[in-house]
Amino acid sequence: MRFDIITIFPKILDSYINESIIKRAREKRLITIEAHDLRAYTSDKHRKVDDSPYGGGPGMVLKVEPVFKAVEKLKAKSSKLKARVILFSTRGKKLDAKIAKRLSKYNQLILICGRYEGVDERVAEKIADEEISIGDYVLSGGELPALVLAEAVARFIPGVLGKYESLEHVKGSYPVYTKPEAFIATRNKRQATWKVPKVLLSGNHKKIDEWRKQRGLTK
Ligand code: SAH
Repeated sequence: MRFDIITIFPKILDSYINESIIKRAREKRLITIEAHDLRAYTSDKHRKVDDSPYGGGPGMVLKVEPVFKAVEKLKAKSSKLKARVILFSTRGKKLDAKIAKRLSKYNQLILICGRYEGVDERVAEKIADEEISIGDYVLSGGELPALVLAEAVARFIPGVLGKYESLEHVKGSYPVYTKPEAFIATRNKRQATWKVPKVLLSGNHKKIDEWRKQRGLTK
């Protein structure tokens, strides 16, 4: 699976791409993830990627032309692949596990990161296959959403998760504890003992499963 991320700040993505689960998935050659500088797809001498909005108002808008060129080029690069073009937008469908799983079936995801006031609407209308939001709040750009989506999708690709890692949607999500059994917390000269629930120390797996089910979010 290829992730091609189109951004005006490719460097923002580097550190995360080179660490974390994404790094391991790349090393195992399960995914390829690349950030592409939108500026490389401009044709004027000032390499202009944005301009002021028609109709007036504050802020700048990312231009349609460089985005079009970038997407065409990236699609051609891997023309035999089943590709999906995604634009990050506050007005998009909200990302969840179901969407991430559906997207994990493609061979190439081309992710377009907006900035400033947003992206010329013709990108949403004519270039993107779908618009995705990662939640009801406004960020300054689509770069964090791209990383969130890439990781959420990658976790659904067979082999990306290690043997001991979990797909929460398979086994449910429940509270977890580790050593020590009793943690002594001192605050304002007062001591408190924070204990691990007894049932988890009991060795009784039936009871443990019941407790996890009751305290967890099983789907
Ligand atoms: N004026 C716009 C906000 C633009 S934010 C509005 O009110 O909707 C700039 C860019 O950041 C957006 O084009 C989008 O690509 C990205 N972005 C910001 N918040 C986001 C979110 N919650 N989910 C996905 N993308 C987001």
